[in-house]
Amino acid sequence: CTPGCPKVREENILVTVRMRPLSSKEIASYDLVAWDITDHTTIVSKNLYHERHGGSYTFDKVFYPTCPTRKVYEEGARDVALSALGGINATIFAYGQTSSGKTFTMRGVAEDAVEDIYKYIKITPEREFLLKFSALEIYNETVVDLLNRESGPLRLLDDPERGTVVDKLIEEVVKDDQHLRHLISICEGGPDYIGAAQRQIGETSLNDRSSRSHQIIRLTIESSLREDSGCVKSFLASLNLVDLAGSERATQANTDGTRLKEGSHINRSLLTLTTVIRKLSSGKRSGHIPYRDSKLTRILQTSLGGNARTAIICTISPALSHVEQSRNTLSFATSAK
Ligand code: ADP
Ligand code: MG
Repeated sequence: CTPGCPKVREENILVTVRMRPLSSKEIASYDLVAWDITDHTTIVSKNLYHERHGGSYTFDKVFYPTCPTRKVYEEGARDVALSALGGINATIFAYGQTSSGKTFTMRGVAEDAVEDIYKYIKITPEREFLLKFSALEIYNETVVDLLNRESGPLRLLDDPERGTVVDKLIEEVVKDDQHLRHLISICEGGPDYIGAAQRQIGETSLNDRSSRSHQIIRLTIESSLREDSGCVKSFLASLNLVDLAGSERATQANTDGTRLKEGSHINRSLLTLTTVIRKLSSGKRSGHIPYRDSKLTRILQTSLGGNARTAIICTISPALSHVEQSRNTLSFATSAK
């Protein structure tokens, strides 16, 4: 092992499922729990009809509603996150329908990853680290800088060495863990961030926006052995934390089975991402993979496939009223394994 390289499990795509608790609104409307988690890897539909039609799904891990995010991070994301410290590009996604718990999960994952990364830096004094932070949102195939929303839409450029880069995206050098937490809070819409214009949008349309947009937090981690160790081995990789648009935007059918018009509902970046992930996991890594069909997959191209590590945390609602969307999510998760 290269000195200073963290030991992690080597799996290219790690797929886990997290079921949130029933919300107070769901409880108040007498909604029922539609799923049983039979062990830590299998989730089964309680509906006999579904069960007869393949209502059982198995993954690397299935997390119970009572499971703390810390555990979700440890078993569903940590190995992928830490591989970026050793020079391997890594991406952690939250995938699921709107209100299934993506943002809740990714916030906790980001918190735990920051703690873990700085713990590791502390116990690796022989290496010198340089961390850079950037964050963006993709909304209607338009890229916006989350550290400077006022800057307007950003262009993607093809760099012969680095691949696709986002032109004029702010990259902040991270001073320490506190600084990193502060930068993340800005992107999450902390008090010093929400401008007057944004407040006017109102909560309903902010929710609508979050169901349509993808948010990417990117941490670039560079490190090299300090000179006196007589070795110059250096690492460079990025860790991407991605809170995806609601997965209902990747499917054609509405919950009642009616077809919706493409364009208004379907999210190109999300649809392309699911295609790319399905192709990567089906072992067709050598065939054509349509990275270039969307902004999201172009931006993440070097962190998906190849020897990059991916963790997909699929979030579902337990409610019977959401069972069709949960089934869609579990089918996607199955095809991503
Ligand atoms: P999404 O980002 O997928 O639209 P959110 O993360 O906003 O969904 O979650 C919807 C609501 O459910 C929020 O109020 C959130 O706090 C709550 N929630 C989500 N997951 C959990 C969980 N595992 N435990 C407790 N509450 C949760
Ligand atoms: Mg959200």
